[in-house]
Amino acid sequence: MINDIIKESIKEKKQKLAKFKRNMLYFRWTILIFIIPAFLFNSEFTISKNLVYLTLLLTILYNVLISLLIVFKKPERVKKDIGIVFYIDVLLVCFISYILGGIESDIFVVLFFIIAYYGMSRDITSIVNITVFTISMYSIFTLVVERDRLNEFNYWRLISRNLFMLITAYGISLLITEVKKYDEMHKREFKLARTDKLTGLANRHYLDQKLEEEALYADYTGKPLNILMFDIDNFKKFNDTYGHMWGDKLLSIFGEIVMQNIRKTDIPFRYGGEEFIVLISDLDISTVKGIGDRIRNQLEKQNFNIGDENTKCKVTVSCGIAQYPTHSKDIKEVIDCADKALYYAKEIGKNIVVTYDEIGKLKETVQIDIDTYLSN
Ligand code: GH3
Ligand code: MG
Ligand code: MG
Repeated sequence: MINDIIKESIKEKKQKLAKFKRNMLYFRWTILIFIIPAFLFNSEFTISKNLVYLTLLLTILYNVLISLLIVFKKPERVKKDIGIVFYIDVLLVCFISYILGGIESDIFVVLFFIIAYYGMSRDITSIVNITVFTISMYSIFTLVVERDRLNEFNYWRLISRNLFMLITAYGISLLITEVKKYDEMHKREFKLARTDKLTGLANRHYLDQKLEEEALYADYTGKPLNILMFDIDNFKKFNDTYGHMWGDKLLSIFGEIVMQNIRKTDIPFRYGGEEFIVLISDLDISTVKGIGDRIRNQLEKQNFNIGDENTKCKVTVSCGIAQYPTHSKDIKEVIDCADKALYYAKEIGKNIVVTYDEIGKLKETVQIDIDTYLSN
């Protein structure tokens, strides 16, 4: 269950990163097309037209280069490798602000966008870093413009702009904290909704959701998907003999045994009362039968001390296995195939693992004497 959630969150993360990649391109080109030229062409500060065109050209070239980099990078690398680009952006905007007269230009508002965008897509440390960098660079570039008349310079104007940048950064940090809290809450609720309380495995509701998805994945990879269906033998009798509480305990112990014997990528479900399903992809059916048998064997060997030390009893489980798409191209029918194999396992004496192909071909196992293993 845990691993499945990890798998799911990786998928979700990939989609988010792809979206981040797209949004970053929109963001950059919006600023470049609509905002930078507006400042460059409307500057009250006297700069030569040639310098305006040159700056615009260089900015466009730079943006094309960065866009190509973003387009050709894998989404999962974009965030990591492109972080530095935001710092170069800050430098570039500071430079444009420099040629537009430093403190005289309002282009510093673009720095707010950069801090906000960078901050919102990352964590609080990153937002602190980019803010400190932006404030330092903006102050340096501005003061360099004024280098000859520093004693007349209105420092309060610079300080107030930097303060606004700090306030923006603080606001974004608050937002990030809130969003993270909400995200964690949502994840917890999501996990609870698909977890079986007693065993901690995934529940049936989630299996219904997951089956189609896993079948599609099997089609896509061309690898089979195995369905193991377990049913504890004579569980009703166990309940009647030792009580419901011990029955529950047995179920949760069996859940643990299942978890111990499968890989991180396999998904275990509690299918019903004392029925469990495990989805195992890309293994051949004989290997999967081995896994089923290991689980069966471990439960059989497990000693249950019920009530007091002297009351020991043994419990067994039967298992039916079917494979998608080998046994049916309809995943729901594969469940039925596993169920039929399980039914056959019960019929021939229980405490055995049977694959769908083996139905009708196995000898009866020694019929277990229920009272022998349910008694001391
Ligand atoms: P078989 O060997 O053929 O599987 O027989 P069985 O007795 O295991 O199967 P049956 O379907 O007759 O009984 C299943 C029992 O499981 C009946 C029900 O009371 C019990 N059960 C279902 N859910 C739970 C649960 O959550 N906790 C406990 N303790 N018992 C449960
Ligand atoms: Mg049953
Ligand atoms: Mg049973």
